[in-house]
Amino acid sequence: MTVVAPPWGPAADGHDQQYWDGMLAGELRLQRCHDCRTWIWGPQSVCSACYGFDLRFEAVEPSGTVYSWSRSWYPYIDELRDRLPYISVLVELPHAGGRRVLGLLVDDLDRPPRIGEAVHGFFERDETQPWPLLRWRRDGTDGGDRR
Ligand SMILES: [Zn+2]
Repeated sequence: MTVVAPPWGPAADGHDQQYWDGMLAGELRLQRCHDCRTWIWGPQSVCSACYGFDLRFEAVEPSGTVYSWSRSWYPYIDELRDRLPYISVLVELPHAGGRRVLGLLVDDLDRPPRIGEAVHGFFERDETQPWPLLRWRRDGTDGGDRR
């Protein structure tokens, strides 16, 4: 049997390995400069604030607010074919210096998100895939995922 790697998972350069390890552990881990404490996302090898090299990953509460969103009718990857249309949200994380992460919103998709609306993240694992993904729901909702 041939196992095809999904289009997500650790990058070849290894910069985001701890992010993905966090996904497996049920934690959202973002990079932070140990010298100046600046949060960094996406993963880098040098701090853009102080040019320090001591960058580490820290667990962050997966909650924030919708900074932007879009609804898509095209499955950019095969895994999205059965979710059409889907809503992508760019979530601003107050517990990580306002860094923004992207993910799918999986609650009531008939109700468009509002900018600034509170959302919380969870880790969705398809057991046929090696890496979980961060998904988002609006606060006060407990699902609506169509799977
Ligand atoms: Zn720094």
